Amino acid sequence: MVKIKSAEEIELMRESALIVSKTLGMLASEIKPGVNALYLDKLAETFIRDHGASPGFLGMYDFPNTLNMSPNAQVVHGIPNGEPLKDGDIISVDCGALKNGFYGDHAYTFEVGEVAPEVKQLLKVTKESLYIGIREFKVGNRVGDVGFAIQNYCESHGYGVVRELVGHGLGKKLHESPEMPNYGKRGRGKKFVEGMTVAIEPMINMGTKNIKQLKDGWTILTADGKPSAHFEHNVAIVNGKPELLSTFQYIYDALGIVSDEELEFRQAKLQS
Ligand code: MG
Ligand code: MG
Repeated sequence: MVKIKSAEEIELMRESALIVSKTLGMLASEIKPGVNALYLDKLAETFIRDHGASPGFLGMYDFPNTLNMSPNAQVVHGIPNGEPLKDGDIISVDCGALKNGFYGDHAYTFEVGEVAPEVKQLLKVTKESLYIGIREFKVGNRVGDVGFAIQNYCESHGYGVVRELVGHGLGKKLHESPEMPNYGKRGRGKKFVEGMTVAIEPMINMGTKNIKQLKDGWTILTADGKPSAHFEHNVAIVNGKPELLSTFQYIYDALGIVSDEELEFRQAKLQS
């Protein structure tokens, strides 16, 4: 059952989401060749606790760490290890935080040093598809409208859209109803209503959509060994329209990136 949130609950969710956003912003300055994921994981755990929250993933389904860190061909759910990041790597960092009983859960794929142009393009298109999907998350639309928009855009670039893993409702539980696939048919699935809160999170592969899982029981990687990207935001429907609860702005501030991609999803907030 979909759990509709009140305006007060949405504000609490924003607080949790922004702790994750700030954590990712802090990590953005630390991610470089030679640094390892386990070190970054410890930084994130300390940062989250210093902000009065608990790591949302640590211990969840027995996951051993604060961050899911998935380099290169890993799609999601990578377990941080001591291997140094290399120039030209990409690494998807997925982070959760729990505060006031509500979860934040969002993700960004970072470049490590100088990344190949075709990999940069994968990241660009995947992030664009996230906003294209978010635009469809509004009153009157349905789950399939978001999935269709993401799938259509990514496949038009020749990329593979992962089927086995999906976005989700978000709130007092990390995974609430409905499931939010990154593929689908227009006009199909559950109808969106005011006060819904979800995590939209395209997982897009440069090559095949097919995946496999490592024997660790967690790590998902592409079947063909080509890179994969993952971007995730937390979004609420406010005044009928999508409103971002999370932001990449802290990352952009750390990396000196100028972007207006989130502007249209802040309008609801500015007007109220
Ligand atoms: Mg996530
Ligand atoms: Mg998620």
